[in-house]
Amino acid sequence: MSNRIVCQFSCGAASAVATKLALAEYGATRDVQIINAFLANEHDDNRRFAQDCEVWFGQPITVLRDDKYGADVQSVFLRERYMKGPHGAPCSTLLKRRLLSTYEQPGDVMVFGYTAEETDRLDDFRERNPDRPVIAPLIDRGLGKEDCKAIIERAGVELPAMYRIGYYNANCIGCPKGGEGYWRAIREDFPEVFEQRCLVQDELGPGSWFLRYRSGTRKDERFPLRDLPVGPIARNEKLPNCSFFCEMAEADIAATA
Ligand code: SF4
Repeated sequence: MSNRIVCQFSCGAASAVATKLALAEYGATRDVQIINAFLANEHDDNRRFAQDCEVWFGQPITVLRDDKYGADVQSVFLRERYMKGPHGAPCSTLLKRRLLSTYEQPGDVMVFGYTAEETDRLDDFRERNPDRPVIAPLIDRGLGKEDCKAIIERAGVELPAMYRIGYYNANCIGCPKGGEGYWRAIREDFPEVFEQRCLVQDELGPGSWFLRYRSGTRKDERFPLRDLPVGPIARNEKLPNCSFFCEMAEADIAATA
């Protein structure tokens, strides 16, 4: 059985602080590993943040990278022929979850970057996965997302660019888990990415549309990104986390739904 503590570092503030805390608690007695899934669609500055965190951790990060789709969500959408299904987006499963399963060993203890705001998610995960040992250093210490950002800054590490320009997390640019306000922000800040996702929908057709009209005669009908009306921009729209673990939890939820 493995003696490993496995931290999943997602280039976000929460997972960085969770990793740092796990190293502080277990670094002297256990084999603490830090893993990260490379995604071609994240902001380039995520790599700078990862390098800065390696210095802060005093330990290298093992970067896992999907080969089948070139670690590119655009390629996943086009080849799998959808962007978002009833059980979530295919990219997180294919580009993150699968990588984790190639890395996992029996007995691994996983470190969750869930924050104090996400206690319910941790409880839910543990209930559904009683044989999967996990620890959540942020919840144990009552640390929220904003606490994590402050800790990173006080450590002298510059937060990822996506946070600095106002986004809720540092996940991929142009994520199908986002809503209207988020997509208006992407259209304004990253028009080339917005156009790429529109091109996917042009090719795949109405089955790939995931936004819905919220009012009017067409309420609840889906519409394509190209038809996104002008309206409020919400860079800080709260998107679901996208980590190895979220996918595990969501897959479990889907399996029992
Ligand atoms: S952040 Fe969004 S686009 Fe990127 S892998 Fe996760 S679900 Fe897919």
